[in-house]
Amino acid sequence: MTALPGQAPQKSIRGLTPSAANGQTLALRGAILSFGHRLDSDSPQFQTFTDLAGHRSGLLFIPDGIVYIVDGLIAWVLPADEAVAQLPVDCPVHRYQDRLIMPGFVDTHTHFPQLEVIGRMGHTLLDWLENYTFPAEARFSDLSHAQRAAQVFLQELSRHGVTTASVFATVHPESADAFFKIAQASRLRMICGKVLMDTNCPKNLCDGSDHGMAQTESLISRWHGRDRLRYSLTPRFAPTSSPEQMRAVGALLQDHPGLHLQSHLAETRQELDWVARLYPHHPSYLDVYQHFGHLGRGTIMGHCIYLSDGDRRVMADTQTAIAFCPSSNLFLGSGLFDLQSALQAGISVGLASDVGGGTSPSMLKTMLDAYKVLKLRDQTLSPEYAFYLATLGGARALGLESVIGSLEAGKEADLIVVNPEATPLLAHRAAASESLSDLLSALITLGDERCIEACYIQGQPVMAQALGT
Ligand SMILES: [Zn+2]
Repeated sequence: MTALPGQAPQKSIRGLTPSAANGQTLALRGAILSFGHRLDSDSPQFQTFTDLAGHRSGLLFIPDGIVYIVDGLIAWVLPADEAVAQLPVDCPVHRYQDRLIMPGFVDTHTHFPQLEVIGRMGHTLLDWLENYTFPAEARFSDLSHAQRAAQVFLQELSRHGVTTASVFATVHPESADAFFKIAQASRLRMICGKVLMDTNCPKNLCDGSDHGMAQTESLISRWHGRDRLRYSLTPRFAPTSSPEQMRAVGALLQDHPGLHLQSHLAETRQELDWVARLYPHHPSYLDVYQHFGHLGRGTIMGHCIYLSDGDRRVMADTQTAIAFCPSSNLFLGSGLFDLQSALQAGISVGLASDVGGGTSPSMLKTMLDAYKVLKLRDQTLSPEYAFYLATLGGARALGLESVIGSLEAGKEADLIVVNPEATPLLAHRAAASESLSDLLSALITLGDERCIEACYIQGQPVMAQALGT
């Protein structure tokens, strides 16, 4: 067996360095858990787990450990009996008995304006967009509406323990401005972009004659690299961008290689047929994005259900990542993602809620839906690998693994405290757990935001009212 893909040093995203907060030291004490570590340690604190393609990876588990944080960055992680002697005497210690301290969750694909259409039933993707999503997104030309929605969305992310996300705004620059402004105040590490659409969409959601480029460049100059914020070029999907807009996006990405790019790819068969009619000279849907220069490290495509082996090779060769969106795929009846083939091809995959096609911002619920989708493909997702996908796996898919995703020295201290006894049923089930793996299974199956007891951003606790506790 080999190590997980992505563990070898890769070219990092340009301009990305850990972001340090001002200030103090802090220690968190509890059961320490972190996924996807290198296999070069023979420490008893490391266990191994395996993904669906047979790649092995390390899991750090310290039943009673301390994470020591200086200036918002993790300084070290040690068993409590070794750590106590090294802690400065004036360092405050937040103690979490019988709780798991782990990296914050990473949601690699979500839409903040769609929180208000979660659970609108009865349609498949293209009808759902037309009947529910586009009318909801049209309201985001109003800055105050966008600000209220961004506030609620970011608060929900904190409550659910999601500390990093790659987020679609709407076509209106106001929506991205509102999101970035509130995200900056929240100190969450966020990637976002104004949606680009200039064809096959309602007139009030259509980019102008310059294909949205002036607004996009203006947003990049205002927000990309500011504090913990990063910009993602966001063509909704190939059918709603003209060839001219697709070309302009590719050119912008070449001019700004540190930018991200997010879009949708091969979500439903109906969409595939539409793309084949719009771009008849391209051998595949993926080829349209490749032709216009959209693929590469820093690009992440949502869904990717209907890919050929050739498509997967191209994605792996270009280091283009996939956002696996299981609850959305189940809710809209889109199809079953083939994780094993993606991993065998060497593609970096992260987990995603895809709110509001997805049914919850909870990464625990998303893990459970991932498990069910894969079971229907005769693939068994281990609980350890599910948590990896929702933490370091997501960070790798977004090109952020040098700064977030695991509890390692030098990384930003975005941490969550998880209570495996948050409900009477969970407590009953947790008490019967036979192993760490079994406890993680119980959390995935029965857990939700009530399990997120605390959330720390750059080593500072998110206020209790934001968590709703
Ligand atoms: Zn989406």
